[in-house]
Order: sequence, then C-alpha cells, then structure tokens
Amino acid sequence: MSARAIHAGESRNRYADSITTPIVQTSTFVFADTREIEKFTRGGKKRYEYARYGNPTVTIAEKRLADLEGAQDCVVFSSGMSAITTTILSLVQSGDHIVITDDSYKKTLEFCRSYLKQFAIGCTIVPFGDYRRLERAIRKNTRFILSESPTNPYLNIFDLHKLKRIADRHNVLTLIDSTFATPFNQRPLEYGMDLVLHSGTKYLAGHNDILAGAVLGSTELVEKIRNLHKSMGGTIDPHCCYLLLRGLKTFPLRIAKQNQTALIIARFLQEHPCIRKVYYPFLESHPHYKVATSQMKGGGGVVTFETRGTLADAKKFLDALRLCFIGPSLGGVETLITHPAMVSYYDYSRKERYDLGITDTLFRLAVGIEDAEDIIQDLTRGLKQL
Ligand SMILES: *Cc1c(COP(=O)(O)O)cnc(C)c1O
Repeated sequence: MSARAIHAGESRNRYADSITTPIVQTSTFVFADTREIEKFTRGGKKRYEYARYGNPTVTIAEKRLADLEGAQDCVVFSSGMSAITTTILSLVQSGDHIVITDDSYKKTLEFCRSYLKQFAIGCTIVPFGDYRRLERAIRKNTRFILSESPTNPYLNIFDLHKLKRIADRHNVLTLIDSTFATPFNQRPLEYGMDLVLHSGTKYLAGHNDILAGAVLGSTELVEKIRNLHKSMGGTIDPHCCYLLLRGLKTFPLRIAKQNQTALIIARFLQEHPCIRKVYYPFLESHPHYKVATSQMKGGGGVVTFETRGTLADAKKFLDALRLCFIGPSLGGVETLITHPAMVSYYDYSRKERYDLGITDTLFRLAVGIEDAEDIIQDLTRGLKQL
C-alpha cells in the first residue's frame, strides 16, 4: 500500500521535473483564444476552467484516495463535514427518509436530526448494533443507511456483511464513515458498501494541521455528489490539498505504528489498578472483537478508557500529563487526549451525558507516533494522581 500512497494519481512525467506535486494555486484557468473556448464548451477538450469545478492538485488527491480505497471515483472537500453534508443532500429529496445510528459523529447526527427536517426529510436514529431495529426502521421512502465504524468514543464496530444483507433486502444505499479506520485498516467498498466517507483531517493528512474530507464510490454516485459540490462550494484550497497529499505518503507507516502502539497501551491500561474499563476493538474484552478482527487489519489509533474516581480525579489525571496534549481530534502525529464530558459534551447536563454513556472519568486517547513506552510513562504519571 505504501507505493500507492506515495505515487498513485501521478505520472512519472513530472511538471518541471519536480519530484513533489505542483500546488496549482489559482482561482481560474485561462483560455489562449476563442478557439480554445469553443473547443471547451463543445466538450471537445477536457480542461480546468474555474477552481470550484476542479484543480489539478485536487485531482491528484482524488485519484490517489480512490486508488487506496479501491473506489472508481472520489471527491475531496474542504472538511469532513462538507463531504458528509454534501453527500447526504445529493442523495435525498423532500419526502425521503434516512436511517442513521445513534453513536455517529455529533455534527453528523445534528445535521440529520435538525437540519434535514427543514427540507421535510425524515430521519430515524437507531441504537448502534441493534440490527433488528435498524431493519425495522427502513420504510418505503428510505434512501440510505448511514453509519460509522469504528465509532466514537466506544469504538463499536459495524458488521458490514450484515449491513449489506439488510440494505439489499430493502434496496437502500449504504454509507459508511470510515474515518477511524482509514483504507489501511478497512475497505468498506469490498463489503458492498455504496459510499465511503472520510474526515481527511484525521489519519489521512495526519499532522493536525489541516481540515479535509472525501467521499468515494462508484462513478455514477460520485458524479452526482461532485455536481452538488460545485454549487455547495466546500472546495479544498490547493495548498491545503498539497498537505493532504504529503500526509498520505506516510499514512500506511503511521497507521501501522499507531495500530501497534494503541494495542500496547490498551493492554497496559487493562492491567492497571486505577482503570475501570478499556475500550479497544482488538482487545478480546471488546464486545465486537470478533467482527473487528475479521473486518479490520488493525484496531486503529484510538483507545477509550474509564479511570476509577471522580470528576476531580479526572482533572488531576489530565493536569499531570506532560507528553499527551489535551485536545479534541485524532489521527495526527502528536498524541491527544480528550475528556468528552468536559470537551465535547460540556453543554449537556450530567444526566444527558450519562444517558449517552459519557461518564465523568471517561477519556479518549488518540495515540500519535511517539513510542509506546513514552506515552505509557506519561499516562503512569497521570494515573499516580488517582
Ligand atoms: C472529525 C470527524 C468528522 C468531521 O470531519 P471534519 O474534517 O472535522 O469536518 C466526521 N466524522 C468523523 C468520524 C470524525 O472523526
């Protein structure tokens, strides 16, 4: 996969003999003369016209990602949420209905639950892992099922074979947000999923320095999404896209290491007396261990855990850390730790949080590419406070 992550989408014949990808930093593309315009408008020549409709740097990223995910086509966006919302809107009309699982990304859920209503599009939210309720939620006007795997923060794994069988029985599309897995660990299109979504902000770009998103699938579906994208305008900037391409070159190396480190840390935490519970899909104790290990190459770089103690203890633990940075997001080279109760769910009441399983002492660790022993040393320092 590394050769493709470095080279796919580009020819050996390089612009100005440069080994790196040119950043075509332009908003528009000019015509030599009126003959050129006419050739273009009659469809006689494919070329770039205006940057919202396409850019050579972006095309290379789209080709590279399509290659890695095993997709016919790809559209790259300015953020993961731009990819998700544009994709959803391109597939539904008023009067339609969609099904989504309850532990989807917070803003995806919010968009489906609140904003789709404005267009008279129905949305049923079903508990993750309840395949019977999922099937029962499908109606005549259901257009697609949208879910994620692994999910945030409990790293639940969707059985993609089951999802495919349910979708086929009712003739609905399947959309999977595969951000936490990346094409290194999981390739949902091989399980018959129709579209794969990514927040490229996370592992694909991998350096905590840009926002990006992508959708991948068949030429026919992706073309529909690309057309709406031209109106919605969530266009990635060429320089930002260069950083995505640059990140992609090392992404198989990074994920391989992050898979390894996360498993070591998950095992360490599981044995630690101050830890109440560890969630990691490649630990035997995880409820979806079997599906995870059959569907994925590695468990990914996120480990979720609950410590013993109170909210005050949780704060002491966080404040003692010296290597892990406290902050949201994941997938970068720096290890980040977040406390969902204080960060992502600060605006919820304690009861609302607990109903979602977001307890006072729950942490999500997104391992970077530091060595496992250094991260463990830091966590140990924090856990001594408990
Ligand atoms: C971060 C994330 C998103 C949103 O992506 P942005 O690039 O932040 O817009 C969507 N889904 C998942 C699973 C994510 O982790």
